[in-house]
Amino acid sequence: MFKKVLIANRGEIALRVIRACKELGVETVAVYSEADRESLHVRFADDDVCIGRAPSRDSYLNIPRLIAAAEITGADAIHPGYGFLAENPEFAEKVSASNITFIGPTPDQIRQMGDKAAARKLAKAQGVSTVPGSPGPVESLEEGQKVAEDIGFPVIIKAAAGGGGKGMRVANDADQFAQSFTLAKQEALAAFNSDEVYIEKYLARPRHIEIQIMGDTYGKVMHLCERDCSVQRRHQKLVEEAPSPAVDQTLREDIGDAAVKLAESIGYVGAGTIEFLLDADGAFYFMEMNTRIQVEHPVTEMCTNFDLVKEQIVVAAGAPLSFVMNGNRLRGHAIECRVNAEDPSRNFQPAPGLITAYHPPGGPGVRVDTHIYAGYTVPPYYDSLLAKVIVHGNTRTEALARMRQALDSFIIEGVTTTIPFLGRVMRHPDFVAGKVDTKFLEREPQLLKDQT
Ligand code: ADP
Repeated sequence: MFKKVLIANRGEIALRVIRACKELGVETVAVYSEADRESLHVRFADDDVCIGRAPSRDSYLNIPRLIAAAEITGADAIHPGYGFLAENPEFAEKVSASNITFIGPTPDQIRQMGDKAAARKLAKAQGVSTVPGSPGPVESLEEGQKVAEDIGFPVIIKAAAGGGGKGMRVANDADQFAQSFTLAKQEALAAFNSDEVYIEKYLARPRHIEIQIMGDTYGKVMHLCERDCSVQRRHQKLVEEAPSPAVDQTLREDIGDAAVKLAESIGYVGAGTIEFLLDADGAFYFMEMNTRIQVEHPVTEMCTNFDLVKEQIVVAAGAPLSFVMNGNRLRGHAIECRVNAEDPSRNFQPAPGLITAYHPPGGPGVRVDTHIYAGYTVPPYYDSLLAKVIVHGNTRTEALARMRQALDSFIIEGVTTTIPFLGRVMRHPDFVAGKVDTKFLEREPQLLKDQT
């Protein structure tokens, strides 16, 4: 086992990794930017190093400083969390070259899946269905137009290096295509330093279904069932649940097998998520793979009783998977709501600032993963996630009731949050009935309006 793990991240995920390390008896190192001096991850880690100024490129994205921090503190492993450098193959490579273990897949595996156009090809080669679209990257506008005409509008143009809902543009018809194609390429270049794009058919009302997988260094890969992340805004997740109300045991096994096959084909090591779109007729299509722990991992933990972050660390240290999952292991139902410092009525504009009062919900089956406290100032430099409220119930109905009461009793004062909006989603008849798809919020704009 490792002696000391450096966490190359901040916020709730840094705390989450520290907790896992403490349970394993492993020491921790927090890194922080000048804006995060007062952060809880700094307080709870055994050691801490300031790695630079507030903007991420000067701190959390600065590879030499992170590696220097690990060397100075004697850390023998680095956990990247999610976001920042978690899916950066050069980072994983440089960590290993410094004789430090990267807690995650190999640089090659990150590379293979990080290029979404290449990952699609790989899935196809394994017999896993993909959304109809271009066989690979699309070079020119003319080629793109031809692909779009062939598969039929609407289509979605996506950055091959994309992530976080960026670099994606929908084109509803041939007239719109040229503009969307150009915009997608520009956005991709600005956000990911590569203007490579590919094209998919834009499905009308899909659900976002993803499979949690875990692999060890002995070639064993297993899946831990699905999460349903269909409640989205601009292709970004807001609410997640497990199991999916739209997936029965047969479909679960089919999607799970497809995910395992794909991960096995590259000898995948560590935690990963394979994302699919599920059509109303039960057909599912591979979309992409995320080669890291995800924000929404707790819903899987609540339904399986396995600690995914501890497992990441154990597997990276060279141990075999410590548990065997079979499809029937799910117990009860879990829902996660992402509480952000944002104003839904103002287009989800970020609302950083001082938190003047804080009281989290509690009681049976309620978990809050957060880094905030009364007196904490939410800095404007990073993403606006304040807390994740995760509930578990014996049934979906119980989980829903639990989430409503948890949100209603969650006090965060001083900054505008998405709590009231999430409460409305939890009461919407379509969500209650489990009948939502990724276009749900587009159809229900009144949910975004402040009703107090
Ligand atoms: P990112 O890597 O930026 O998260 P994804 O490829 O995972 O992007 O897609 C994010 C979301 O965009 C999906 O969950 C879905 O809502 C929407 N989306 C992506 N591709 C399609 C498609 N072909 N048809 C319909 N919706 C799509």
